[in-house]
Amino acid sequence: MKNSKRLLVLMSCVFILIGSHSCSKEEAQPKEINKTPNLQTTGDSANDILSNTNFDKILIEIAHVSGFRPREQTITQFTDFLRQYTFKQNIAVQYLELESPDEEDLTLEEISDLEIENRTAYNDGKTLAIYIYFADAPSEGDDMSEGLVTVGAVYRNTSMIIYENTIRRLASQNPSISVTDVESATLNHEFGHLFGLVNLGSTPVNDHEDLEAPNHCNVVGCLMRAELQLGGGASKSTTEHNGLKASCNLSGNTMMRLLQSKTSKSYTVDLDSECVLDLRANGGR
Ligand SMILES: [Zn+2]
Ligand SMILES: [Zn+2]
Repeated sequence: MKNSKRLLVLMSCVFILIGSHSCSKEEAQPKEINKTPNLQTTGDSANDILSNTNFDKILIEIAHVSGFRPREQTITQFTDFLRQYTFKQNIAVQYLELESPDEEDLTLEEISDLEIENRTAYNDGKTLAIYIYFADAPSEGDDMSEGLVTVGAVYRNTSMIIYENTIRRLASQNPSISVTDVESATLNHEFGHLFGLVNLGSTPVNDHEDLEAPNHCNVVGCLMRAELQLGGGASKSTTEHNGLKASCNLSGNTMMRLLQSKTSKSYTVDLDSECVLDLRANGGR
């Protein structure tokens, strides 16, 4: 009798435990996110992006200031580019609309602070997360009247910035080049650096790094080629603030010249065979 009573007490304790457990599960806090793997140096995740060894899905978070969302067609061309050069076929895109930070221009620190504040996509299991910020403000040091502008930059292994307002202004100056042309080429160029091009994590198979424009390709017509900006563009590419370094500040001149050099209607600019060779050597398609 005593024993069965004890058993009853014990069993009700178990039920209470189970009950409270399932209850706490419903109210479970979101699990702690480890952001560190997404906050490394440009090119550090090249193999993880190119191959399916550690991650077989990619999540692209497109954060954009209200009114500065990229064209739908651009994102289609961009994901096609990813499917073409990487083994990632499972690609998800999510949009995050943000208020304007109300800045006249953006420094690398401000861009990094905005990412820390707003980014929601981080690696999770076999999903690799990328964050792309479409800004309404230009890059610090731009001079539109002189044509010295930056259209995009990479500063970490899984994040980049696209200066959307600058891209729209550039495209509006040339009736034969659309916003999508400039957006796509800029996105793909910057993503080329996340692939580890040129010599940023994917070692060149044959030497084709431009000595005058480090981390860019020396093959004329290649998407990864950069032209030096007169008036300090070259030194800008190695600017370093508080350990933050932009491995590429892509100039508007480079992009427009590359697009104008293409005579085809679609202005498709692509990687040359040397860049493709480097990607394949590091797990790409
Ligand atoms: Zn570049
Ligand atoms: Zn190249």
